[in-house]
Formats: sequence, C-alpha cells, structure tokens
Amino acid sequence: MSLWWLGLLLLPGLLFLLGRYAIWLPGRNPEWPRLMMLHRVTPAIAASGMNMPPARFEKLLQLLCKRNYVFVTVSELMDAADRRRHIALTFDDGFADNYHYAFPLLKKYGVKATIYLAPDIPDIEKLDLAQITEMAASGLVEFGAHTLHHVNLTRLAAGEAEREIRDSRARVAGLAGSCRSFAYPFGRFNAEHERMVAAAGYDSAVSTRKAVELIDAGNRFCLPRISTNGVMDGVQMRIALAKGRYRI
Ligand SMILES: [Zn+2]
Repeated sequence: MSLWWLGLLLLPGLLFLLGRYAIWLPGRNPEWPRLMMLHRVTPAIAASGMNMPPARFEKLLQLLCKRNYVFVTVSELMDAADRRRHIALTFDDGFADNYHYAFPLLKKYGVKATIYLAPDIPDIEKLDLAQITEMAASGLVEFGAHTLHHVNLTRLAAGEAEREIRDSRARVAGLAGSCRSFAYPFGRFNAEHERMVAAAGYDSAVSTRKAVELIDAGNRFCLPRISTNGVMDGVQMRIALAKGRYRI
C-alpha cells in the first residue's frame, strides 16, 4: 500500500483527534486571569457537558492547585488590582449537588467559587437557604444571580428582561447576604442586556464566550469563561486552561 493511501486512512482519525484536542488553538498568556464554567457535580448521573462527577472535579482542583493559581470569587477578581494567575470557578443554576459534592472538595483544597442562582428555576433540585447560608459563611463561596426563572433574555420584552435581571439580584442578596455578579442564562444576551445588568447595580457579568482575556471596562459585563465538560481528560483540562476551550 502506498503512503498516499495510508495518509487517506489516517486522516479521519487525525481530524477527529484535532477536533477533540484543540492543541492548534493559540495559547493565552498564562498570567492572564481565568474564569471557568461548571454546572453540576454529582456521581448520580453520567458525566456530561452539564455534570462533572466529583472524582473528575477533584482531579481538576488538584491540577489547578499544582499550577499555583490564586483562587478568587468573581467579585474578588473584579476588585483585585493585580489579577495575575487568578482563577474564578463558577457554577450556574444553583443545583443542590453543588453543596453535597462540590463544597466538600472546595473546603478540602481551599478553593473559592461563585454560584449563580436562579431562585425560581423550575424542575431542578435547588440549593436551599440553609445550604446557601452555610456556603456563604464559609468565605469560600460567593453567590450571584442568573435571572429569577432561568430565562432566555433575548426572547423577552425589555421590561420583562429588566425585571428578571433586577429582581433576581434582590432575591439572591436576600438569600446570600450580597449579590454583585450576574450570569446570562443559556449565554444569550445583547448589548442592551449588558446595560440593564450595569443599571441594576451589578458590577460584573459572565457569559459563555469560551476565551481567556484580560479584564477591562469593555468586557466586565460579558466576561468569557473556559468551557469544561465532565468527560474531559487531563490533557483536555490542560488545553482548556491554556486556550479557553479544549475542543471545537
Ligand atoms: Zn443556567
């Protein structure tokens, strides 16, 4: 068999690997701050884009500790004068498993995190007031808002979107003691929503843009986050940290 044929046979496998291990993406400055997006941490369901099981989450924390990152909440990240090697872990939606499985590991490794609550999100087992209070009191966890009902803001009339943004801040502040940061559900928003978030008194907002950037006035209401997935292996974790995403 000629080399040409061999190449043709190997090509699909090579493209498959390059799709899942995006080593070809440009690396970002390792000193730049990082935000990471997670949702659930539970052994009860399969690993997925929404769920990083506890064993995998612990591997991620061990990698981050080994890399000497400075662990901060999102608001601490915004307040920091020097953000070099700072990393903010974030969890969207406020699943109760964040308390049962992620919080013990955060305490074990002394890692901080920010949890974005949607207080009236339907159909999920949510963190309750006692759990939120205990996590907030630990000094390791900050709570932000993710709208009241976990809505796609781009599908709402302006007044409705404004209410979801403003009222969720008051509700989360009532539950957790403070609420300074916002997360756009489904990553759906536009410049008008960024202005609403600023006007509601938040001082930052996170998006689902998969990137690593310096933080400035231009992106403080659309902060990028590194994508994670419960099935990612150690190599993919390293690629994600270096580049902002690990796959196409
Ligand atoms: Zn969400």
